[in-house]
Amino acid sequence: MDKNIIKQITAIVGRENCTTRLEDLHCYSYDGTRKSFLPSVVAFPDSSAQIAALMRLASVHLFPVVARGAGSGMTGGSLPVEGGMVVALSRLNRILEIDRDNQIAIIEPGVITGEFQQEVKKVGLFYPPDPASLKFCTMGGNAAECAGGPSAVKYGVTKDFIIGLEVVLANGEILTTGTRTEKGVVGYDLTRLFIGSEGTLGIITKIITRLIPLPEHKETFLINSTSLPEATGLVAELLSHNIRPCTLEYMDRTALSLVAKLLPRPPAADIQAMLLIEIDGSRSAVREQTERLHHLLGTFPHCAIRQAATEAEIDELWQARRSISPATFQLSPHKISEDVVVPRTRIPDLVHFTEKLARELDLTILTFGHAGDGNIHVNIMLDPNQEAQHQKGEIARERLFREIINLDGTLSGEHGIGITKSSFLPLELDDTTMKVMKQLKKLFDPLGILNPGKIFPAEL
Ligand SMILES: Cc1cc2nc3c(=O)[nH]c(=O)nc-3n(C[C@H](O)[C@H](O)[C@H](O)COP(=O)(O)OP(=O)(O)OC[C@H]3O[C@@H](n4cnc5c(N)ncnc54)[C@H](O)[C@@H]3O)c2cc1C
Repeated sequence: MDKNIIKQITAIVGRENCTTRLEDLHCYSYDGTRKSFLPSVVAFPDSSAQIAALMRLASVHLFPVVARGAGSGMTGGSLPVEGGMVVALSRLNRILEIDRDNQIAIIEPGVITGEFQQEVKKVGLFYPPDPASLKFCTMGGNAAECAGGPSAVKYGVTKDFIIGLEVVLANGEILTTGTRTEKGVVGYDLTRLFIGSEGTLGIITKIITRLIPLPEHKETFLINSTSLPEATGLVAELLSHNIRPCTLEYMDRTALSLVAKLLPRPPAADIQAMLLIEIDGSRSAVREQTERLHHLLGTFPHCAIRQAATEAEIDELWQARRSISPATFQLSPHKISEDVVVPRTRIPDLVHFTEKLARELDLTILTFGHAGDGNIHVNIMLDPNQEAQHQKGEIARERLFREIINLDGTLSGEHGIGITKSSFLPLELDDTTMKVMKQLKKLFDPLGILNPGKIFPAEL
């Protein structure tokens, strides 16, 4: 990038908030995919006005701008694939307001999700979306990817909680969307348009979220099953029996084996799958739902239920669940990791399909994830030293995606498209939908400077 441009970026954010040092650039070149693309410069603005000035500069000199939260994305969204400037949102990390009476909060995008949850908890409120990465991912990244998590089965995902945004557009204008109120239907719902747009339509600089009262009570259960079809079949049965857990997580045998040491009691050798279930609400509601759960389990002979007895045990269970994704990376740094979704009743079909695929292609494929909303993480494990295995992995991925569409599912529940899934978009979206989406991109970013190469790489 031209030295004169770097000088102007420095003038906007200050010398100490801008870097072109190679060792720094490396730190902003990768994300959860472990792919790496170097930017030319990283800027650390601390206001919407600074971001607006950066965008005006980019519009004149036509360099790419990539917003970055914590870089924990799983599809390459924050990677500067065409170089240019990374806008790191880490200094925009203030909780501006928690309005307890109206149950809303206004925050900046660099706020860490888990820290935000803790802050609202102090005043008896609850922000449910809980990606497994919540200890390090940011609210801006969650908004841009529409992050989900275990609690989505009961409470919904990020888009169900964000009611308004401030966004810096590609030309440097500042747009505010939505309201501070629970309801609001004045004009188009631009808030929802930006949520899940992966930094391709604008840079989010403020977020208004609604909050709900903290549930009074919660109980945690573990179901070990010696039958995989029974465990996966139980998921839809639970919900159709009017049991609405706030967590309904599933792990297959291989996923379990990766984190067995972290579990309070290592699973027996014949366990094929585990479900982690939590029920929250008033004490009486939790008691009533727990009774229903035990009653239903009576009809599932291969499933054994146990209630977690202590906080330490619950922490260990969660530690194990949240460690699956990092553990799969350790085992297979070049794994293919997908977050497909199917209707809950089709989960047994999906899991059966992945097992068949693994056998046919002689691959290790493990499944785990947010079964309650049909969002299963399918991990195709690959040996970096075996080129042939990588080719088989790609075949497996394509067959998986085709099957997901057959099962009335969707290619991504929460990780987005980024660069890793863009070539598969036409499998799910028809020509008209693709055309309208591309027109929207052109409307918001006519010069193609905002996060280029994402979602629709080839044509734009
Ligand atoms: C171990 C692990 C577990 C995970 N578990 C989950 C899970 O349970 N559920 C889930 O949904 N995801 C999960 N993820 C994926 C990831 O954490 C989420 O996608 C998260 O929302 C990304 O946040 P981030 O701050 O890291 O964003 P980044 O990775 O930095 O960016 C992600 C995308 O958002 C854009 N972006 C970031 N900030 C802004 C902004 N202010 N304005 C506009 N665009 C912006 C970027 O350009 C990029 O396209 C997991 C990841 C890891 C590594």
